[in-house]
Amino acid sequence: MPELPEIEALAAFLREHAVGRTVIRSDVAAFSVIKTFDPPLTALNGLTVTGAGRYGKFLDLEVDGLHLVTHLSRAGWLQWRDKLSPAPPKPGRGPLAFRLHLAPGIDADDDADAPEEPPAGFDLTEAGTQKRLAVYLVRDPLEVPGITRLGPDAMRVDLDAFAALLAGERAQIKGVLTTQSVLAGIGNAYSDEILHAAKISPFAIAARLTESQVSALYAAMRATLTDAVARSVGQRAATLKSEKRSGLAVHARTGLPCPVCGDTVREVSFADKSLQYCPTCQTGGKNLADRRLSRLVK
Ligand SMILES: [Zn+2]
Repeated sequence: MPELPEIEALAAFLREHAVGRTVIRSDVAAFSVIKTFDPPLTALNGLTVTGAGRYGKFLDLEVDGLHLVTHLSRAGWLQWRDKLSPAPPKPGRGPLAFRLHLAPGIDADDDADAPEEPPAGFDLTEAGTQKRLAVYLVRDPLEVPGITRLGPDAMRVDLDAFAALLAGERAQIKGVLTTQSVLAGIGNAYSDEILHAAKISPFAIAARLTESQVSALYAAMRATLTDAVARSVGQRAATLKSEKRSGLAVHARTGLPCPVCGDTVREVSFADKSLQYCPTCQTGGKNLADRRLSRLVK
């Protein structure tokens, strides 16, 4: 699932490649992804892309006063296309959910005799059978319910506010870090990485962390996310996924050696996902039992 660093990188990519271009039209290949109807998607046609940003794990494309907001969910992705065929996609086929066609920027055609540049744009795709990718066209990002509910952003919260929000959570820290209404931007992968860097068990109760653990966790969160953003920004949007994987110490590395201490990375699996941790670094050498997860996932 794309998390804060990948969404930040996609926003940076769109600021560089999409801003200044004019929307030709949008194609909806999977109608369930469109969560709003007013304004209609056709309201975008002819408007210029003016910016791109991020709210937690939501991507926001600003189009001359309108906001095309996307939540990629677990299996969604954005793929930039330097050339886009004008032919409409066939609905219901393959992973394509949504496509935005963009005309070349105004400056692209300095030479009137040059052949016209093809339209570019991007596809929103979603792999797998669970279709949860969501697209909203709104006048204000706060019209998106998931954005209204977000807690403070993980990259912007300060240490005091972070400590205060943990103090109020009598739940396992793994779940607290990934609850978007508590703290926005972190998902399954980076929470594993942050807890490993801070040497804290994923099952530690948030409110019972010591002051020094909270400081360590805050520092690990900032360092992990800052590193990941730096690695991700500048990568072609299409290669971000593999870039994310290469920077991970424990997440998705079950059975491999911990890069810090050499112990074997362990896994706790639950219904539809899993977490990874290093026993030596995080739990005093103790293996965590799967059954404890029932309290985490409810
Ligand atoms: Zn270790």
